[in-house]
Amino acid sequence: MEGRDPNQKVAATRTEIGTDVNYGEITRQLVGSLQKKENFTLSLNSEVRGFKRNADNTWSVTVADLKHNDEEHVIKAKFVFIGAGGAALKLLQETGIPEAENYAGFPVGGQFLVSENPDVVNRHLAKVYGQASVGAPPMSVPHIDTRILDGKRVVLFGPFATFSTKFLKNGSLWDLLSSTTTSNVGPMVDVGLDNFDLVKYLISQVMLSDDDRFEALKRVLPGREASGLASVAGGSARADHQA
Ligand SMILES: Cc1cc2nc3c(=O)[nH]c(=O)nc-3n(C[C@H](O)[C@H](O)[C@H](O)COP(=O)(O)OP(=O)(O)OC[C@H]3O[C@@H](n4cnc5c(N)ncnc54)[C@H](O)[C@@H]3O)c2cc1C
Repeated sequence: MEGRDPNQKVAATRTEIGTDVNYGEITRQLVGSLQKKENFTLSLNSEVRGFKRNADNTWSVTVADLKHNDEEHVIKAKFVFIGAGGAALKLLQETGIPEAENYAGFPVGGQFLVSENPDVVNRHLAKVYGQASVGAPPMSVPHIDTRILDGKRVVLFGPFATFSTKFLKNGSLWDLLSSTTTSNVGPMVDVGLDNFDLVKYLISQVMLSDDDRFEALKRVLPGREASGLASVAGGSARADHQA
């Protein structure tokens, strides 16, 4: 409430049981329990490079061992689940199944202002979520968020949509172009036309300058915490992600 006009009407819901979820820890525990079972193998540093459908409807999956000169080997499987984040689209297309044809990527990324400044971080131990603008997708609800990243407490504010043709943080700028086909270009245009508010919102976000982003922050956090967060973020401390 600091820095806010005391006459301004504000509505809020507070819960004290919210918590950061450490998905890395959940994954380690899940894999740990699977490793106690037979017939389970975890292959790290491995990259799926290709799929072949066999006559008996099974799959031959080509996997490269990134720790050993990209040496390739083939795994035979009855079912394949693709969970490769932004890279899932290209792998799905690689399978050649007709269901993949209408899927496409959308060239949108996200950017956060981030502060590690203890003066700011120690005064903000909460996840505060605001209201999304008209046309904005649900994940773009502005929030000031305490995060524990590898044991270090930081405060994030965002997200701001960015234009990006990469599908993963370490992806290629060609990801969008190389996954656009004659089958999915039509549905992509339809999505744009059917969601014109979303397109307008994304264009307005991409046009934002750093000053505009700080103004957005100050609307949510008018007190002196905002200048602490903004000054650190102004030193180009930003976090990016591709969606
Ligand atoms: C800063 C930030 C904040 C976020 N906050 C939230 C939040 O508060 N709540 C929320 O719900 N979501 C949040 N998200 C989004 C969330 O992190 C993602 O939606 C989620 O991680 C997606 O999980 P995934 O397993 O599908 O993909 P990813 O986490 O992207 O994992 C995909 C994996 O597949 C691997 N891979 C890719 N290609 C191949 C290949 N050919 N062979 C083998 N492996 C491959 C990649 O290396 C990667 O390890 C946030 C994201 C960011 C960056």
